Amino acid sequence: MTELSPALKQATPVLAARGEGVYLFDEDDRRYLDFTAGIGVTSTGHCHPRVVEAAQNQVGTLIHGQYTTVMHRRLLELTERLGEVLPTGLDRLFYVNSGSEAVEASVRLARHATGRQNIIAFSGGFHGRTMGAAALTTSGVKVRAGIGPMMPGVAFAPFPEAYRHGTTEAAEVDRALAELDQLLMTTTSPKDTAAIIVEPVLGEGGYIPAPPRFLAGLRERADKHGILLIADEVQTGVGRTGAFWGHEHAGIGPDILITAKGLASGFPLSAIAAGEELMSKAWPGSQGGTYGGNAVAAAAALATLDVVRDEDLVGNAAEQGQRLIEGLRKVAAEHPVIGDVRGLGLMLGNEFTTSEGAPDAATAARAHAAAAEEGLLLLTCGPHGNVVRMIPPLIVTAAQVDEAVACWSRAVARAVA
Ligand code: PMP
Repeated sequence: MTELSPALKQATPVLAARGEGVYLFDEDDRRYLDFTAGIGVTSTGHCHPRVVEAAQNQVGTLIHGQYTTVMHRRLLELTERLGEVLPTGLDRLFYVNSGSEAVEASVRLARHATGRQNIIAFSGGFHGRTMGAAALTTSGVKVRAGIGPMMPGVAFAPFPEAYRHGTTEAAEVDRALAELDQLLMTTTSPKDTAAIIVEPVLGEGGYIPAPPRFLAGLRERADKHGILLIADEVQTGVGRTGAFWGHEHAGIGPDILITAKGLASGFPLSAIAAGEELMSKAWPGSQGGTYGGNAVAAAAALATLDVVRDEDLVGNAAEQGQRLIEGLRKVAAEHPVIGDVRGLGLMLGNEFTTSEGAPDAATAARAHAAAAEEGLLLLTCGPHGNVVRMIPPLIVTAAQVDEAVACWSRAVARAVA
């Protein structure tokens, strides 16, 4: 019998047969509340009728309009449409298929534009699994283990983690920025540093929002030294955090923005955005790909952006995120094993710790498994695997949030029993 590679790890035992809105159904038609959204991808829910219609129409017209051979209308329309939601000045786009590829494209652009090699990334960051993106990734050693040597020219600075270090956010931001300054004095000279890449909310590394003063500090240093600031918004973009882009919470803007996941409701599509001057420094022919900017994915992205606007999904993410975090905090108040509940919008994590404050991955795993049995699909994250995260589709309703909190409450009670 031919089987899938054992290198794949499946977080839940579900064999998905169909999806509808916030729900997934297995082959026995058992219904699950999908608070994984395909790792933050199905922003408009599973099979939103407008996304389905746009994709179906496109499939019958033009599936593959290979963009280094010919141009196609949907990609031009999408580019125009993204201009309405991108930060002012980031008006040049390049498309690929996945988050990892877009991360690599951003590194390529940053190196070409600055003539410098080094990239600063943050401890606990996740930027992907392709070799260049993996070299920037330290959310868990499994992504790097045994595949080295890694791409050189990467230096790591600490990300503020007040809860894990048992300190205040202000003290953590001071420490992280001081260590970044130290890194620029001792390890990677500003003259050799092309870019700083950061997630507005540390994702796979444990769902830790970057404090606004930290992001402002990165912006300041980038400006001072002519270093480019890259916002990896693969997971935080397109409304996920209750703002269209995660960096908006800090009131700063990046030089390069990376978007993927929620952009096309499940079709593979990612992009980097930068200003005209910066993008013009990319060496001709240096970016490309066979499938990038696929016509069906672009049509789905156009429909996704329409749904996000027409159904005010950014506002809904903020509103339901508030309802969800309040519910989760009530559950945590009853169960001291959940030491921290945090996040932004509909990107929320529950960190499990022992009474001594050590990471408690075993109880987190039991709660995660019990939740699936209760009909609530979730994921874990963090280097210790002790953070259970919730990333429902942005269309989630108050009633579905309440249903999820009730399932979660029962699941945690079972995990600690
Ligand atoms: N960057 C971030 C912040 C991510 O969360 C992810 C995926 N979890 C990636 C990059 C990589 O995206 P992909 O899996 O589509 O390559």
